[in-house]
Amino acid sequence: MIKKLLMGVITQQDILNYYNATILFKELPIEANGYVFYYRDINCIIINNNLSYEEKKETILHELAHIELNQLCQINNDLFDFYIDKYEDEANKYLKKIMKEVIL
Ligand SMILES: [Zn+2]
Repeated sequence: MIKKLLMGVITQQDILNYYNATILFKELPIEANGYVFYYRDINCIIINNNLSYEEKKETILHELAHIELNQLCQINNDLFDFYIDKYEDEANKYLKKIMKEVIL
């Protein structure tokens, strides 16, 4: 789905509907770009409101990657901790791979 979004085949709203996800912009500490958690069937993406437009876009993609990789279910629906390196790596690698495919 993220690939389709990057290719312009679907919109951000389409992908949010597909994953039953919602984006909230909040004042977060400067070191946090954003995080995502699963609560009552909804994927809640929280984005730091202090980021630039481009950073927000990147962070939304990153959080969508966590959802698309099903990482939220793997950790038992608990609050997703953005400091879990394993998942951070996995999400970033996944995004890089998709972006390469889209550019080609
Ligand atoms: Zn992350």
